[in-house]
Amino acid sequence: MTNNTITREMFDDVMVPNYAPASMIPVKGRGSRVWDQEGNEYVDFAGGIAVTALGHAHPGLVGALKDQATKIWHLSNVMTNEPAIHLAQTLCHLTFAERVFFANSGGEANEAAFKLARRHAWQHHGEDKHEIIAFRNSFHGRTLFTVSVGGQPKYLEGFEPAPGGIRHAEFNNLDSVKELISSKTCAVVVEPVQGEGGVLPGDPEFLKGLRELCDEHDALLVFDEVQSGVGRTGHLYAYQHYGVTPDILTTAKALGGGFPIGAMLTTAEIAQSLSVGTHGSTYGGNPLACAVAQRVIDVVSQPEVLKGVRERSKTFRDGLKWIGDKYDLFDEVRGEGLLLGGVLSETWKGRAKEVLKAAAEEGVMVLVAGPNVVRLAPSLIIPESDIEEGLERFEKAVKRLVG
Ligand SMILES: *Cc1c(COP(=O)(O)O)cnc(C)c1O
Repeated sequence: MTNNTITREMFDDVMVPNYAPASMIPVKGRGSRVWDQEGNEYVDFAGGIAVTALGHAHPGLVGALKDQATKIWHLSNVMTNEPAIHLAQTLCHLTFAERVFFANSGGEANEAAFKLARRHAWQHHGEDKHEIIAFRNSFHGRTLFTVSVGGQPKYLEGFEPAPGGIRHAEFNNLDSVKELISSKTCAVVVEPVQGEGGVLPGDPEFLKGLRELCDEHDALLVFDEVQSGVGRTGHLYAYQHYGVTPDILTTAKALGGGFPIGAMLTTAEIAQSLSVGTHGSTYGGNPLACAVAQRVIDVVSQPEVLKGVRERSKTFRDGLKWIGDKYDLFDEVRGEGLLLGGVLSETWKGRAKEVLKAAAEEGVMVLVAGPNVVRLAPSLIIPESDIEEGLERFEKAVKRLVG
């Protein structure tokens, strides 16, 4: 069977129906442009949901992958490998972290983080200290533990019984945390910028307050930076922007620039609680993934790249605001860096998916974050000309919907 005999219709015949993918099938990407089977071209403002941080087929990443592909692909954790140690060194050098655990996805990085928080409390305080406080509308992954910690009950429906000892407070409401936190709390888990929940940045005072509450109650502060990390906010990690340092940080999505990898970062002291044999992953720290992620971090951590994110952010914000006002589309454009959300106005309420679809038809890929937010998470190095072209196409789509 050759590739051109594959059609979107076949998806429904062979795939579990948990996704409803677009009607076209992309076959090629270069930078911030993507082409589908028919040769239609798109400007990519979606970035594979905040993953392809250096666009498609970035020469540095292709080079790193090819180079490692000729050396060694996989060893398992019975042995270590050079790319994994090098990447861990780099992440420790560039962040608060002193120890790294590698996984293959954001959900797995969070699973490791939550297990570590539980085990650390169990070792130092006993089994009563096991409660995890998370936030409504948060998203931490789709494993049973992470989906239970996540604050969107619809994702848990039908999968119960859920793991116990998880409580939910209200994001950006410190009082709601004060009501729940106690000597039983082992961790507070938060996305510094809620992504899936609607591109909602944490208030600096809220995040600082969480740090203080955790210190008072001997609880660990866990930042889920799976979406907000790796340059997305114009800082390597969002915690650096807020000046609030967590005890555990999880990172994935953009870390591999499209190659699956996740990581959990923590301190040397806390890391002791995951002693030999307590946790693991067959692929975690795989040389191919680490070699690619190394190149991603090497590029994204450059000051001029991070500065470029902040500059591009302004271009996007200005453009979105202009279109938003002209068509009464958005009440507000919010977010940080290149994680942006246009909050639909009263007239457009509930129509985010429709906007996404119309945009794709006009040749620009955007995302949604719930029914009322149009989300953008483009490449961090998207050329200005692609931003302009994409925004023009986006305006065309909106104009067409207005009729
Ligand atoms: C996407 C996401 C996850 C889940 O990552 P997967 O790689 O899909 O498991 C977890 N947390 C946040 C904040 C995310 O945006």
